[in-house]
Amino acid sequence: MKKVGFTRSIHFKFVMIYVLLILLAMQIIGVYFVRELEDRLVDNFKSSIKERIDLLEFTLKEELVKERDADDPTLESEVNNILTDSTSSDILEIRVINNRSRIIGTSDDTNQELVGQITAEKMIKKVLTIGVVMDNIFVDNQTGNRVWRSATPIVSNDEVIGAIYLETKIEEVYSQLNEINRIFTNGTAIALGITAILGVLLAQTVTRPISDMRKQALAMAKGNFSRKVKVFGYDEIGQLAITFNNLTKRLQEAQATTEGERRKLSSVLSYMTDGVIATDRKGRVILINDPAANMLNVSRETVLSQPIVSLLGLEQYTFDDLSNEQDSIILDYSTKEKPYILRANFSIIQKETGFVNGLITVLHDITEQEKIDMERREFVANVSHELRTPLTTMRSYLEALAEGAWQDKEIAPQFLDVTQNETERMIRLVNDLLQLSKMDSKDYRFNKDWIDFIRFFHRIIDRFEMTKQQNVHFERFLPNAALFVEIDQDKITQVLDNIISNALKYSPDGGRVTFKVIEKNDVIEVSVSDQGMGIPKDNVEKIFERFYRVDKARSRQMGGTGLGLAIAKEMISAHGGDIWASSVEGKGTTITFYLPYDRIQEDDWS
Ligand code: ATP
Ligand code: MG
Repeated sequence: MKKVGFTRSIHFKFVMIYVLLILLAMQIIGVYFVRELEDRLVDNFKSSIKERIDLLEFTLKEELVKERDADDPTLESEVNNILTDSTSSDILEIRVINNRSRIIGTSDDTNQELVGQITAEKMIKKVLTIGVVMDNIFVDNQTGNRVWRSATPIVSNDEVIGAIYLETKIEEVYSQLNEINRIFTNGTAIALGITAILGVLLAQTVTRPISDMRKQALAMAKGNFSRKVKVFGYDEIGQLAITFNNLTKRLQEAQATTEGERRKLSSVLSYMTDGVIATDRKGRVILINDPAANMLNVSRETVLSQPIVSLLGLEQYTFDDLSNEQDSIILDYSTKEKPYILRANFSIIQKETGFVNGLITVLHDITEQEKIDMERREFVANVSHELRTPLTTMRSYLEALAEGAWQDKEIAPQFLDVTQNETERMIRLVNDLLQLSKMDSKDYRFNKDWIDFIRFFHRIIDRFEMTKQQNVHFERFLPNAALFVEIDQDKITQVLDNIISNALKYSPDGGRVTFKVIEKNDVIEVSVSDQGMGIPKDNVEKIFERFYRVDKARSRQMGGTGLGLAIAKEMISAHGGDIWASSVEGKGTTITFYLPYDRIQEDDWS
């Protein structure tokens, strides 16, 4: 949020209110005070002058009514004497006028020529006729000063016998008033200054907690709850600050709880092995956990708010269909190279009102399970097939025997021979299956011995060399020194028997079978190569699968069950080794396996 400018701040407003209130108060006081003072001062001035006029009137009245002898001084000179005595610095001029409006004396020496003249002053004439005091204030054009003039009748026996006209300097009263005004203005200015300073300081006590709370609110909006508002007192603002702090604490706690719940939920969702997708009531994705995003191979950000039906590739469904789907839906994303099957379960998020608020989809990767199921089905089919073939053969031979062939001395032994062969084949098959099943359920024990592998291998090859019926040449590349390994002789013999018999089976007439043992760091590598028909490139991996045969008919003819290499693989890996095949079609095949080999043990032996 923008910083509040000083002129817009509450602080400034407070100060302004103080200053304006003081200014208003001073103005009202000032107007009232100055007006009152002016009235008082002017009244005082006037009454002090009036007292002197009264005295003068009394003296002049005596002179005016006096009977004069010839040798008495004239009225004019008497009046002149009286006026000279009565003047003072604040009086500009005093004139005395008789009842016929003639000026009989003036205190102003420069105006002595006026004595004896008829006065032109209207105010004097009026006073002479109506006999009341009159006065007014005028501004002297020459000096610009205010002058107060008054005309007072001289009354004797209820008869106006003359008048006193007086002009005084009242300007001094006004300049005194001006001086007081100036002092008052200065006082106001000082008062305003002090008020402003005090206002700034006092307003702070109110504004500081408020601006503190504002700062805290801003910090809270950014998620920082660590701040606290300072409490300066226990007035309304102080209480507000306390409430604000409580509110912060509550909010922090609420936030922490929400955050904790959110974290719990998100860790539950991300550590789940199942994929979870939640949608809003319109079917748009609002939440998807990592497993779900990985399963669907999408990025979380791009799928948010996408319709779920298009995300799952279920365009044939509507959102309502999914909401009402009771069973799970199988999503088959398998490609030619890789099987990939998911199972989706849907449940609706419902409000108490029964209104559908969204959909939760749980995805489960069932590829492995499906694979196992498929393998099992295949296995059962294979076993049944493998058993049915010898059984049908036997049935037809036994039927022939029963129908009379048993009497034929030539055919009967041949037929019995076939049934015996088939029976043996079945027994072999069943034995192989049993062995595999034991290996699958880890229900077997090894009789391991430390043996010299080279001698052991030589013996096996010798056996084959002696019994072989084909024209195949054996070539051995075996080290001269003994190599001791810990193995179960019977089991490894079975493995080698199968590999060598396969090599012989598929070797051409005059072919060569090569035996090799190489000592590597911590393994010995054993390989048997032939020059036979080889295995097509795509099938090389598959020959270790159960019942797998490249050419079924041919292999069966040779009495094979297709389990030999599968058993070999199980046994070699049970010994901690691995087995693989490499082949070039038409050129030959090499079957290689390795067994763990410990040189230190070897040293102990030697
Ligand atoms: P069993 O060994 O149970 O009597 P089998 O020999 O047919 O029967 P495996 O030994 O498991 O079964 O071999 C599986 C298949 O691999 C064979 O049917 C054959 O098609 C192929 N195969 C194995 N060894 C060779 C080889 N040396 N040359 C060519 N094909 C081979
Ligand atoms: Mg075999």
